[in-house]
Amino acid sequence: MKTGVFFHPEFRNRDWPIIGDKFRNFPMVMARELSLPGVALFESEPAEEETLLLTHTVSYLADVRRSWYYNGARLAVGGCVRAGEMIAQGELENALVFSVGAGHHSGRESGWGGTYLSCTGPAIANIRKKTGMGRFAILDTDCHHGDGTRSVFEDDHDVLHVCFCSYSNVTGEGTNVDVDVRGPITDAGYLRAVKSEFIERARNFKPEIIFHNLGHDTAQGDYGDIGLTRNFFPQLAQIVKDCAEEICDNRYLIITHGGYRADVAEYAFPRIVEILAGD
Ligand SMILES: [Zn+2]
Ligand SMILES: [Zn+2]
Repeated sequence: MKTGVFFHPEFRNRDWPIIGDKFRNFPMVMARELSLPGVALFESEPAEEETLLLTHTVSYLADVRRSWYYNGARLAVGGCVRAGEMIAQGELENALVFSVGAGHHSGRESGWGGTYLSCTGPAIANIRKKTGMGRFAILDTDCHHGDGTRSVFEDDHDVLHVCFCSYSNVTGEGTNVDVDVRGPITDAGYLRAVKSEFIERARNFKPEIIFHNLGHDTAQGDYGDIGLTRNFFPQLAQIVKDCAEEICDNRYLIITHGGYRADVAEYAFPRIVEILAGD
């Protein structure tokens, strides 16, 4: 199997923090793409608490466990952990993991902005525990600064975190990077910035897997609108996939992030599955 798509029926028909019910028509809207050769749909399983505790503190996890969105967030992280492990072990080349309630605003003992558990923290800790892999890149193209992801990895110089947001910084021996892409910006202008600021760095850094926090809140009419069209998102996945082919044996894991426009999600994610499955 080449491409894994990780979803859970619980992700639809609920008003998730920030993103709402944008997955209400999933996975049905991807039916054609899910039937392509090499593509498999997996039902995300809840992350083990032991795995969550590789990143989160006991007291923070106890707080999140009391929230109504805990089960969704835990399923999202479970999908990331499983997808990451399967990619690391060569069972998949790449994956698209759907996420609610979990993502880049969650640190070891904090969470806000719709994300209350870390996705990349437990996924990377689990890969390190179970395989010989140690070096990873995280690309963040959600509109907002990935403060939680940054706080988990800022002292870890085996993780390159390149975050496209409204800051401009390079710290941590060059592994903590923020790229200012405040709008208005064109699709082509943003893609050029990804090539020069992420792909060039990733080539030199030589990660074993590329993780990608892919929000579409940057889309026209979404809550972080910087002027991008819906066509931007598949194009972005294509250039990062090409980069993964060049530098890390195709190993590429996309995690859905911000954006509440269901029509943009329904346009972009099926096309992204097709790109991941393509030659
Ligand atoms: Zn965002
Ligand atoms: Zn940032």
